[in-house]
Amino acid sequence: MFEHLKKDFPILSQEIHGRPLVYLDSAATTQKPQAVIDSIIHFYQHDNSNVHRGVHELSNRATVAFENARQTVATFISARHSSEIVFTRGTTESINLVAHTWGAKNIKTGDTILLTEMEHHSNIVPWQLLAERTGANIQYVPVTPDGVLDLAAFKLALRKNVKLFAVTHISNTLGTINSIKELCALARRSGITTLIDAAQSAGHLPLNVQEIGCDFLAFSGHKMCGPTGIGVLYGRRELLEEMPPFHGGGDMIAEVDFFKSTWKQPPHRFEAGTPHISGAIGLAAAMNYLDAVGRDKIAGHDAQLGIYAYEKLTLLKGIRLFGPPVGRSGVVSFMLDGIHSHDVVTMANEQGIALRGGNHCNQPLMKKLGVDSTIRASFYFYSTTSEIDLLVETVRDIQKLFGVS
Ligand code: PLP
Repeated sequence: MFEHLKKDFPILSQEIHGRPLVYLDSAATTQKPQAVIDSIIHFYQHDNSNVHRGVHELSNRATVAFENARQTVATFISARHSSEIVFTRGTTESINLVAHTWGAKNIKTGDTILLTEMEHHSNIVPWQLLAERTGANIQYVPVTPDGVLDLAAFKLALRKNVKLFAVTHISNTLGTINSIKELCALARRSGITTLIDAAQSAGHLPLNVQEIGCDFLAFSGHKMCGPTGIGVLYGRRELLEEMPPFHGGGDMIAEVDFFKSTWKQPPHRFEAGTPHISGAIGLAAAMNYLDAVGRDKIAGHDAQLGIYAYEKLTLLKGIRLFGPPVGRSGVVSFMLDGIHSHDVVTMANEQGIALRGGNHCNQPLMKKLGVDSTIRASFYFYSTTSEIDLLVETVRDIQKLFGVS
């Protein structure tokens, strides 16, 4: 559907090992359109300066561009106000910020932090560290054999002393799309604070934080056509205002005395030091690009490719697919009998196909699935069904080489 947009991505027109690059690793990081690359070049060529601190023309321009980027993010996820948007380095840092600041104030000994078995390490380890610091407990909503969350178990878990529920919107291994609106509504009814890990969804489908009804939402620029090193924490204004700072330093203070300091209001309270100015500008350019393509159309394309790949791969012998056959995104994980995932990924690379093999930062989920790794193909709007056909053909050839057919 979007094949014509491939030309917007200069990196995709190259050959790898003498064959056209087939990039099926967009869940790890997406490629960048020329419009995003241009926005960063433009900033460094014309407007580069530090933000918030100068009165000269370049500093004004940089500050305006940086704060306009914040407004673009707010509009992109339908936040009530741009002050609810904190720039971070990415999803990981956003979650750590909440664990450190909101967590320090709100989590006490004996409290429960509720996660799910399909979380990325980024949405597990910060909570484990918080639990160690505070004496809180961690519980997990189980994943069913179909690769979806066990809703009945989730409802039961809400009866306990749960203070926070943190859940991924889309699983980066299973491709499962969680019903976050429903989950947040149930959690909210029990007075539980909610955090959505939107790393795999922010660039893939329309997001409206007010409709979702979450308290926090985290995502990374690089997984949605933007640069690396920039990400977002959305936080409901009332919560951000009550939270202590994350890092201390320049730009986050109201006043500093020798032995005591006071803080700025959010979001600046959480943005100590010189921010990733060009990153924020590049992220805003990515959001404008995605909106021009149409996020609902991207979601439709993802779903179509996810189902297409799942159905084609299912027809192969000696294959195990993970995650639900329907209600999935453009992330498809599988394993081949008798062939290690790293061998598959290495051999596919020789054909110019970029796949990922490993635990995908989902070690607890791997344990639950009874495997140590999977092969993952992940699509974006620049991916095509003919690329999936090539993937399936290559997998079949690899099976033949290993004597499995
Ligand atoms: N959460 C999910 C679901 C992810 O897929 C990833 C990255 O793969 C992350 C969190 C971490 O993102 P980042 O490394 O950009 O902080």
